[in-house]
Amino acid sequence: MSFQLKLTNEQYLLYLVTFMKKLEKEKDYITQLDSVTGDGDHWVNMDMGFRKLIDQKSDLEALTFGEMFKKIGMTIMSTVGGSSGVLYGSGYIRAAQTVGDVQELDATKLADMLQAFLNAIMERGKAKPGDKTMIDTLHGGVESMRQKLAENADDAAVLQALKSGALAGMESTKEMEAAKGRAYYQTNKGVGNLDPGAVTMYYQIEALVDVLMSDQR
Ligand code: ADP
Ligand code: MG
Repeated sequence: MSFQLKLTNEQYLLYLVTFMKKLEKEKDYITQLDSVTGDGDHWVNMDMGFRKLIDQKSDLEALTFGEMFKKIGMTIMSTVGGSSGVLYGSGYIRAAQTVGDVQELDATKLADMLQAFLNAIMERGKAKPGDKTMIDTLHGGVESMRQKLAENADDAAVLQALKSGALAGMESTKEMEAAKGRAYYQTNKGVGNLDPGAVTMYYQIEALVDVLMSDQR
């Protein structure tokens, strides 16, 4: 039987919890990455925002994807300081408009959601792939996901491609010279270090794919 993705709101909330657990575990690592290339607050920013989302779990439970993404976007926008708050906030709000009031997302809709999320971040941050940011991870994931969708691959292969493309995108930030964000102001433009935002973006995609793959029905 081939696996058909039907992402539910319940699974999305499980994904948020799964990501949060990973984030908690990697506190020192992410803080250290952002201390080398930035100002060291990226972990604190992400933790604050996603903790707030987990607190809102019972409110989010009853919502359609459109409503839920809008609420998540507004919450992140108002709780997360730093660039990442505005960027994630804009991404979620655009994603809300793109998916509309639906109860489930299939693989194509998920790709559309992630593409909208990516486009909003690129516009808001005036940045593009190759600038050594969270965009590199998301772009890598969305591109390989789309390629599998175009080949009419099974949804399991589509999800694996999302994860492996995101991982490659994250890893590619190591040798990049930053063109955006605080690393741009470093003398070596962050070369030799992964971008912290690219790493936390990968944790999110990894958590999402892992939740969906372990919940195959
Ligand atoms: P700040 O840089 O304001 O301290 P954070 O530390 O929370 O904010 O987030 C830093 C991350 O945000 C970077 O690692 C990078 O991935 C991402 N980022 C910074 N500026 C941009 C931008 N203009 N476009 C896209 N992503 C960006
Ligand atoms: Mg920072």
